[in-house]
Amino acid sequence: MVSPPRSGDKVAAGGGVLVTARKFAETYIAPKASAWEREGAVPRRAFEDAATAGLRGILVPNDFGGCGLGFTEALEVLEALAGANAAFAFALWVHNNATNTVARSGTDFHRNAYLEDMLKGSHIGAFCLTEPDAGSDAAAITTHAERHDDGWTLNGTKSWVTNGAQADILLVFAQTNPGAGVLGIAAFLVPADRPGANRTPAYDLPGAAAFGLSDIIFEDCKLSEDDLLLQPGEGFRAAMAGINQARTFVGALCCGMLGSSLETALKYAASRSAFGKSTLEFQGVQWPLADVATDLEAARLLTRHAAEALDRGETAITPAAHAKKFASRAAFDGVSNCMQAMGAAGLRDTYPLSRHLVTAKMTHFLDGTTEIQNVVIARALMAQHGIKIE
Ligand SMILES: Cc1cc2nc3c(=O)[nH]c(=O)nc-3n(C[C@H](O)[C@H](O)[C@H](O)COP(=O)(O)OP(=O)(O)OC[C@H]3O[C@@H](n4cnc5c(N)ncnc54)[C@H](O)[C@@H]3O)c2cc1C
Repeated sequence: MVSPPRSGDKVAAGGGVLVTARKFAETYIAPKASAWEREGAVPRRAFEDAATAGLRGILVPNDFGGCGLGFTEALEVLEALAGANAAFAFALWVHNNATNTVARSGTDFHRNAYLEDMLKGSHIGAFCLTEPDAGSDAAAITTHAERHDDGWTLNGTKSWVTNGAQADILLVFAQTNPGAGVLGIAAFLVPADRPGANRTPAYDLPGAAAFGLSDIIFEDCKLSEDDLLLQPGEGFRAAMAGINQARTFVGALCCGMLGSSLETALKYAASRSAFGKSTLEFQGVQWPLADVATDLEAARLLTRHAAEALDRGETAITPAAHAKKFASRAAFDGVSNCMQAMGAAGLRDTYPLSRHLVTAKMTHFLDGTTEIQNVVIARALMAQHGIKIE
């Protein structure tokens, strides 16, 4: 079940890509989603098939061979994909984001070495910031890149890496000067087959196979100067700028899950009979679904508001935090309420709701927890009201 077109959808620059995304979600992702879950992985081929279908470098400028979408258009694409399988939509987004970073921030060396294969989906990208001992407090990462005359040596462990189980190109954030804090954090592009880079098998998390999560362990992994993507200091700044985009896209992911759960529940309840009538005729079934529809409307507006700010070149720190916090809460509660309206049938893997429920909970952690969104919002509130707390 995928998000249907909505009234007011504009078919502008991104319109063709949006139509492609809806078709890819409906005809490719949705029929395979429960098999991927049972098999514990998405085949590598799916990334290539997405690119071949036209979902190639969604945010990458046309001049570099991508779709060249703005944030507002891209979030509709992500919402459409997420209705079929939000975990795979996120994995594809992480890959597209890494591709966009290579295109926009990479050197000629990086673009020549990686861009075409990443656009084609034959090389999969991953983003490696979180560590076993540093999640919310990303400035505390300890993966160490030590500089030598002829390059760098990388040591440390990255955890919760989406696509980590099969990624080819790793965007790795590392501390170059222990004690220097954020000013020491640089970013590197590391081919995953480089000696000294090892991955664990995919995490065994029920309902989450399509994330392809794993740890990546670096043991005396040698890097050249060419592997440096962002200088010490710039790496952390870029990670934080990217996180506001990511939070907005997590909002879109939640809207996709809510939209598809609502449509599934409505259709099911309309065809299910109890006590001589359709269960959708009971007010006790209608009203929770009406509340989900209101939350979906609000989540879409907040997410679009943040994306429009990004399209205007703003940092969108607070709008992105509002969108992510509201949409992830609405998704978890709303998917659960849609399931309730379906009775036990909502649990069956012929429907996407049980996968959505797990992924909706995961969105409370992705790209900053709900509490961290509140830290950001509270900070903005105090600044807005001129309040300083010593
Ligand atoms: C499905 C999934 C995919 C992911 N993919 C990636 C990826 O591709 N790359 C990557 O780098 N990371 C990834 N992550 C990791 C994610 O970014 C972290 O989970 C997140 O940053 C939170 O860190 P943590 O889980 O270690 O929580 P912790 O930082 O250990 O926090 C534990 C609890 O303490 C609370 N807390 C912490 N600090 C504060 C504070 N200042 N005020 C109030 N409460 C606080 C948190 O909100 C949370 O409730 C992924 C996570 C998931 C679940």
